Amino acid sequence: MLNVYSRARDGETLLSRSFRAKEFACKDGTDPLFVDSELVQVLQAIRDHFGAPVVITSGYRTAAHNRAVGGAVYSQHQYGRAADIRVSGVPVEQLAAYAETLLPGTGGIGRYPAKGFVHVDVRKAKSRWAG
Ligand SMILES: [Zn+2]
Repeated sequence: MLNVYSRARDGETLLSRSFRAKEFACKDGTDPLFVDSELVQVLQAIRDHFGAPVVITSGYRTAAHNRAVGGAVYSQHQYGRAADIRVSGVPVEQLAAYAETLLPGTGGIGRYPAKGFVHVDVRKAKSRWAG
């Protein structure tokens, strides 16, 4: 389910045990922000599995910010369904492999070993790529 939050008003709101709304906010500083609850569940499962903080380097993106950072035209970040993440001490391939177990036959997983992050999204159709 897609939810909308105000960074200013709901920023500290916990969306799960470990994630606050502000962590998903667009890096361009705009308000509001959109987050799919299914994405939060996937990230929480990753956090619980590795027992370490999941850092969201890019969550929700406005269309303007998505263009500015060279995101795909229909980037799932624009719909609150995607997060680029890293976990300290966990290699990209290991992080992506665990994400695979959470999204069998569905969702998007992009591996970015050179940049040190994994893109995870909860789209319906399965998509896999390496950047
Ligand atoms: Zn991404």
